[in-house]
Amino acid sequence: MRVSSRLGSAAGGPRPPTPLPLSLPRLKNLELTAVEGSDVHVRMLAAPVNPSDINMIQGNYGLLPKLPAVGGNEGIGQVVAVGSSVSRLKPGDWVIPASAGLGTWRTEAVFSEEALIGIPKDIPLQSAATLGVNPCTAYRMLVDFEQLQPGDSVIQNASNSGVGQAVIQIASALRLKTINVVRDRPDIQKLTDRLKNLGADYVLTEEELRIPETKTIFKDVPLPRLALNCVGGKSSTELLRHLAPGGTMVTYGGMAKQPVTASVSLLIFKDLRLRGFWLSQWKKNHSSDEFKELILTLCDLIRQGQLTAPACSEVPLQDYQQALEASVKPFVSSKQILTM
Ligand code: NDP
Repeated sequence: MRVSSRLGSAAGGPRPPTPLPLSLPRLKNLELTAVEGSDVHVRMLAAPVNPSDINMIQGNYGLLPKLPAVGGNEGIGQVVAVGSSVSRLKPGDWVIPASAGLGTWRTEAVFSEEALIGIPKDIPLQSAATLGVNPCTAYRMLVDFEQLQPGDSVIQNASNSGVGQAVIQIASALRLKTINVVRDRPDIQKLTDRLKNLGADYVLTEEELRIPETKTIFKDVPLPRLALNCVGGKSSTELLRHLAPGGTMVTYGGMAKQPVTASVSLLIFKDLRLRGFWLSQWKKNHSSDEFKELILTLCDLIRQGQLTAPACSEVPLQDYQQALEASVKPFVSSKQILTM
């Protein structure tokens, strides 16, 4: 018997401080199927709650599972048993989902071999649980859009997000300078110190980015040729204002739920480029070997101490409701990780 989370159809439970605009998932016991052929029996160890998981439950994500479905797109599991035709995995191996939509918020499952990627077991569990989405996105955005050289700079918003923390660390490993924008908050110095400890060169609030004095930064570092936009709205307009001529802004998230507005003059006189990135599409366009290569590159950075897991709060799966509520609260700055 296993415990599995399944999306409920009726709204239930008390209202959280920031209302969760979704039907709250329920824990449910499901029978495991027999392990045959290319099947892999996996015991889940830990799985994060990411914004895309919430978007998927709300029904406004680019990829939606058939219902009923198990929530969670990312996580780390351990192989318990394999079917007779499984060649790449063996009991004891650590595995992560090959693609979104696997349903990781559960204790055990039987998946097909091609739905899983084996990863090294010599990295911390929290890093493994959060490896397959945010660091991959950060790495691809840093290397695929502009040919940046050591000493070049990158500007980003929501820099304390999981992706943002990975951007800071990977950029630092690539010897790129980062200009990191965050929303103001009462304990801003604590957050600034934390991001600087990760390797952030500059940490600014959204308001500070708007004042003319900020331009003094660009006496010490070149204007960024790459901007990474997680927010949209005014925040992304500000990022564009600071891009070098011919530079690229890559939008990968829309946390403010506001459209990107680009000034006509910036587009004409600075020839800025607006691009988008979606890891799921990148995976469709690349082989599983290329995804595995990306994972191994990131594992090397983890082993060298250059990439750590985002700030996390571990929450037992049974308390999933608490984790879901915390995941949609502003200024939490801590990734909720369900532990099984
Ligand atoms: P986290 O949950 O780790 O962080 C969320 C971030 O969003 C925090 O920095 C938070 O800042 C900020 N935020 C929340 N609400 C707002 C708001 N209204 N205005 C401005 N900032 C806000 O997120 P992840 O790093 O896991 O994901 C971040 C985004 O990236 C999501 O939209 C996600 O879907 C997207 N993403 C996209 C991928 C792709 O392939 N396109 C891949 C991975 C992630 P604060 O502390 O101020 O609340």
